[in-house]
Amino acid sequence: MKVRTRVAPSPTGDPHVGTAYVALVNYCFAKHHGGEFLLRIEDTDQARSTPESERAILDSLHWLGLSWDEGPDIGGPHGPYRQSERSEIYKKHVRQLLDQGDAFKCFCTPARLEEMRVAQRAAAQPSRYDGLCLTYPPEETARREAAGEPYVVRMKVPDSGVCVVEDVRRGKIEFEWRAVDMQVLMKSDGLPTYHLANVVDDHLMEITHVMRGEEWVSSAPKHVLLYRYFGWEMPKLIHLPLLRNPDKSKLSKRKNPTGILFYQAMGYLPEALLNFLGLLSNSVVEGQDEMMSLEQMAQRFSVEHIPLGGPVFDVAKLDWLNGRFIREGLDHDAFVGRVRSWAFAPARLSRIAGLAQSRIERLSDLGLLTAFFFAGRLPVTAEQLRGGKLDDLAMRQAFALAQWELDALREWNVVGIERVLKGVADALERKFRDVARPFYVAITGSPTSVPLFDAMELLGRDMVRERLRTALDVLGAPSKKEQDEWKKLAAASAEESE
Ligand code: GLU
Repeated sequence: MKVRTRVAPSPTGDPHVGTAYVALVNYCFAKHHGGEFLLRIEDTDQARSTPESERAILDSLHWLGLSWDEGPDIGGPHGPYRQSERSEIYKKHVRQLLDQGDAFKCFCTPARLEEMRVAQRAAAQPSRYDGLCLTYPPEETARREAAGEPYVVRMKVPDSGVCVVEDVRRGKIEFEWRAVDMQVLMKSDGLPTYHLANVVDDHLMEITHVMRGEEWVSSAPKHVLLYRYFGWEMPKLIHLPLLRNPDKSKLSKRKNPTGILFYQAMGYLPEALLNFLGLLSNSVVEGQDEMMSLEQMAQRFSVEHIPLGGPVFDVAKLDWLNGRFIREGLDHDAFVGRVRSWAFAPARLSRIAGLAQSRIERLSDLGLLTAFFFAGRLPVTAEQLRGGKLDDLAMRQAFALAQWELDALREWNVVGIERVLKGVADALERKFRDVARPFYVAITGSPTSVPLFDAMELLGRDMVRERLRTALDVLGAPSKKEQDEWKKLAAASAEESE
């Protein structure tokens, strides 16, 4: 049997280091066993998926040096590799489950489901569909359907007994069936949910080993049941530990940068970042040199070495490794090549020069004016931030509100950024000019510079988030209570402007 693994990102945001970690583990496992690794795009969440996000994910995995044997960009014998292009396949499988009596149509309205949830919460019961529509006789179901009532398709789940999930690393994990929800498999628009699409695709794409983040463990019983209903052999499951912050909390962008593009913008070499992620998936280094190529990582890979305790994303270690790759991994010419592509990529340089042109008198003004484009976090001081009309509280509110709103922007571009920052000024009932000043300082290091929105677009969301966080820390990060109050402020202003 040929080993086949996959990474299945959802294109709903900026590329995440966790995706690269999962991709790397799956790649190494497949290649270690002479198998194949494929990439599938799980874009069943139509409202949140974007082509920009998909492109960015593929580009950043390529940048890291990963490649796949099949995928949406290169095709392959099991395509299409984008779930939005596979609707007919899922419909057919849902029909099969309905015909077999393993799934049923559910006409419950969102209001009824909400009522049910509230009642279950009050009675301290697990939140689970109560099975009302299962009690309808076939004529009732047919009548509702003929009357055009919208419905979803749910899977049947046993009321009692225990489901045993086998995880290669963790052994048997038991779940009470009565705590497992009757999962929606197909939404009222006829599109599948993650669970159905994921199981059908893993089977049709002949995936032998599913290695995914441990946040999916609780979905495993539903998948076990679906494989059983279809009569398919289940791939082997290996749930990978979540990456952690040094304080052991789950790695999250609120505490640490998590975007691959941030590490790219900071000037980490792709092979160093990949090597660092490889070390996180390997608890045994056996006295070997920790500096490894992708081939070496694949060669040495073993599922048994995956640390289950939650590997710490330790940036100090990444810095050390990156320094070694810069000094030992590149000869002079290769290093110059890296500097050129990091700092002087033609399209980026042309944007930067374009922004600077109307603001300089001598070319030598360029250095100081544009230095912030070639830097990571900026060493801004409270004094620099304080030179304008906003007091500390207003600046802290402005930065915090902007961070939340910028994170929620679907597309990262000048238009969206401008809307957010002007919205912040409105929410605080201040002139935009006064609000813009501390942002100039936080983002460019100076109260006057090239146009702010363009600078922010070019720096990228991750770097902007990091600079705003730095500035906010300098003035004092908001307490939980402040955050709650300020969120209300933002919501009230959003309502007003509607
Ligand atoms: N689309 C899921 C994700 O974004 C994939 C989970 C899985 O690998 O099954 O993580």
